[in-house]
Order: sequence, then C-alpha cells, then structure tokens
Amino acid sequence: MFAHSAFRVRRACWLSVIGILLVLGGCAEEPSTLERVQAEGVLRVITRNSPATYFQDRNGETGFEYELVKRFADDLGLELKIETADNLDELFASLNKPNGPVLAAAGLVESDGRQQHARFSLPYLEVTPQVIYRNGQQRPTRPDDLLGKRILVLKGSSHAEQLAALKLQLPELAYEESAAVEVVDLLRMVDEGQIDLTLVDSNELAMNQVYFSNVRVAFDLGDAQNLAWATAPGEDRSLLDEMNAFIERAHKNGSLQRLKDRYYGHVDVLGYVGAYTFAKHLQQRLPRYEKYFREAAQANQVDWRLLAAMGYQESLWQPTATSKTGVRGLMMLTLRTAQAMGVSDRLNPKQSIEGGAKYIVYVKDQLPESIQEPDRTWFALASYNIGGGHLEDARKLTEAEGLDPNKWLDVQKILPRLAQKQWYSKTRYGYARGGEPVHFVRNIRRYYDILTWVTQPQLEGSQLAESNQHLPGIDKRQPNEQTPPL
Ligand code: GLU
Repeated sequence: MFAHSAFRVRRACWLSVIGILLVLGGCAEEPSTLERVQAEGVLRVITRNSPATYFQDRNGETGFEYELVKRFADDLGLELKIETADNLDELFASLNKPNGPVLAAAGLVESDGRQQHARFSLPYLEVTPQVIYRNGQQRPTRPDDLLGKRILVLKGSSHAEQLAALKLQLPELAYEESAAVEVVDLLRMVDEGQIDLTLVDSNELAMNQVYFSNVRVAFDLGDAQNLAWATAPGEDRSLLDEMNAFIERAHKNGSLQRLKDRYYGHVDVLGYVGAYTFAKHLQQRLPRYEKYFREAAQANQVDWRLLAAMGYQESLWQPTATSKTGVRGLMMLTLRTAQAMGVSDRLNPKQSIEGGAKYIVYVKDQLPESIQEPDRTWFALASYNIGGGHLEDARKLTEAEGLDPNKWLDVQKILPRLAQKQWYSKTRYGYARGGEPVHFVRNIRRYYDILTWVTQPQLEGSQLAESNQHLPGIDKRQPNEQTPPL
C-alpha cells in the first residue's frame, strides 16, 4: 500500500517533469510574435506608397508613417523593412499571409469593417473623412448632394465602407471604387474635372492640397476617426502591446506631435485657403523666378528652396510689392540693405533675389558660432526680419530664463517679450515687435517644407509647373540640412 502510493507519488513527479518539459518545448516551438520578430532581427512593415505615408526621395526613405515606424523599430533594436501594397485589399491580404509583414502602418482608419482583417493599435492621429469637390462647381453640403455625381474612392478604403453604409439610406447613391489609384490620383482627378467628387481623410488632403489649387473641401462626412497601426488578428498580442507602449511614449514625450507638425503643421499655418493659394502661386508665379532663385542659391551656397520660401513670405513672389515702411521688391529689401548688397533696382526680380541671397548669407555669418544647424538657419531668418541687435537681446533674456540661447525653440518663446515694457526696458536695443520674427520663421519653414516635397529629383532643373504634373515624386532636403530635429 505504502509502496504503491510512493510509486504513485514518483510517477506523478515524473509526469509533472514531463509536463514542464512539454510546456517548455512548446514555448521553444512556438515563440510569440514579438520573439519571432526579435529572433529575425527585422521588423517587416507593409504600407502604401504615397506622400502621407511612405515615399523615396534622393536621400532614401521618408514619410510620416515611415518616420514613426522607423523610431519604433529603432526602439526595439530591429532593422526596418518596408513593403508596399498596390491597394488596400492587397495590404490586408499581405498582413494576414503566413510569413508576411507583421505590421501595417499605412494611414489606416480603424473602421468596423476591418476588424476581421486587422487588430488595431492605439490611435496616433485623428482625421476627418472629407468630401472633396472642384472649385467653381456647386459646393455639396450634405449627403443628399452626393446623388447624381461621379464619385470615385479607393477600393477597400474606409471611405468605400462609409459610402456602402450611406447607400443603405440613400439607395440611389452611385459611386465607384478603384484599386488602381492612390489618393493623389483621386485629388488630381477632381482638380482636373475627371470626376466630380471623392472622399479622403483630412491628413491626406493636408499633405496634398498644396499640389492641387482647384481642390476644395465640400463637407465632413461623419465624425472624426482614428488612424492606427495594425497587426493580423491571427497573431498574439505581444507585438501589439509593444506598439501600444511605443505610441503611448510618443504621445507623452512629444515626438509624435513634432512629427505631426512637420508633416501637417503647414495647414495650421496656411489654413486651407492659404494652402490652395500657395498651390496656385506655385504653378503660376514661381516658374517665372525659379531660375533666379537657383542661380542666386548656387552663387551663395544656400538652398534655392529656402530663398524661394523667403520670397513667398516677403511678397508672394510679386516683384513690384511695396510696403508702407519703404521695403520693396520680391525679397522686400530696405533701401539700405539693397545698396549694401549692390542692388541698384529693387523692383528687378533677379536683382532682388540676388540681394536677398547675399543678405541672408551675410546675416548668418554674423551669428555666434555656438548656434548650430538647423537652428542657425532659423536664427538667420529671424535676424533678417528683426535685426541682429534685437535677436541678441532675446537670446540674453532666454539665457536668463535658464533656457538655451542657441536653440530656436527656446528663443522663439522669449522673442515676443521684446514688445513688453517690463522686458524690453532691461534690454540693450529696447522695444521690438518680437512676435513678428516668430511668424516669419514659422511661415518660411512651412513654405520651405512644401517646396522640398514638390521638388522632384528626377526633374531637377525643370520648372515646377511641369513637375506638378508628375506627382507624387517628391524630394526632401539634404540630411542635416535645415531639418527641424524631432
Ligand atoms: N485612410 C484611408 C483608409 O483607411 C485611406 C487613405 C484615404 O483615402 O484617405 O482607408
């Protein structure tokens, strides 16, 4: 009896050892998604090739989704490998394929219809679905106005899903879906009148509005929605948990906000009206002066797009612009500056641009060595706008506050104080409209960003008006060149 029960105990022990071994063995055979990815050392991500997500420029890969997911891969110590899908159906099919990419980062709305094909992360961007029409046509203002219109949306998109739902209420609603186009094509088709309406997300419009001057928002179709990353529903939660932790960190440490500002901030600065006005001027005005900007840039070793951005801020690229304060011409030079830079006729656009180029280089050279790029460029612009003395005052106040006088982010916070007696009375050069250089620099940075998007490497040397026909070939700045640090 005793022996028998001892045997039973021993047998039970053995069974549990075998059990543990089996469990351990089971773990080794079936690692979690995260363990699998870590063992491979590569994060395979599927996305769409479009301006708002991922594209190549002459410096390599870039785009909002790319930059965000690259940080995620870096945090995990993984190599990032991007794959692109031709359309949204293909994207979800790839995500769900065994041995396919493990993460989709493609400006995806977390919609109800997608729950079968995707498990979504925490949101990283809020967007609004917008009905887009062509300027000059009657503006639709509500869903009923969609009836009888030629409407095209991306196949498999959240918008196709929305229209299908709307059709249940409005059976006469007709629309088409295409798997052969991207958002840029939809917007171009509206811009050129090939279709009447499309439906895109507000972030996509923000990124693309500057190319299409006839494109307008008719109305928002429904409430704001969330963009999120996705994993396949067949995977466990291990990678998803990491994604969520990363997104939470990016929200908290401000890196997500900085990325949003860089890609979408121009809309806050320009507003939609400003964005399409800019698009119009890009096509109609810039081509007349692009050659001068390029020549002056080359002669003075600056980026021509920065000069062009300054010219837009100063005069909207109008050579006969004149202000009450006596500044004139495309680059709005004062008489003194013009004379110092050898400009005899300020209203001559070529001369004005050359003068402006020489002057910004001169101003930049006067800055203390301690200010490094990219901040150096922003300080040079501020100095160009408000004068070196006032800028120096603001830097001193910045330092007194315990902030960094060599960082534009810090100095721009303090500059507006130059307009308040309490502060300017303590400075050497006294009162100045300190808020102005802050706007000046902010606007120029936006124009500069946009110009770098729309300038295409393969079309270098040709006119922008032409290059606008070939979207989305997009070029961004050189590495380390005036890139706002994230
Ligand atoms: N965000 C859209 C979606 O999730 C795709 C891009 C767009 O059409 O704006 O389907």
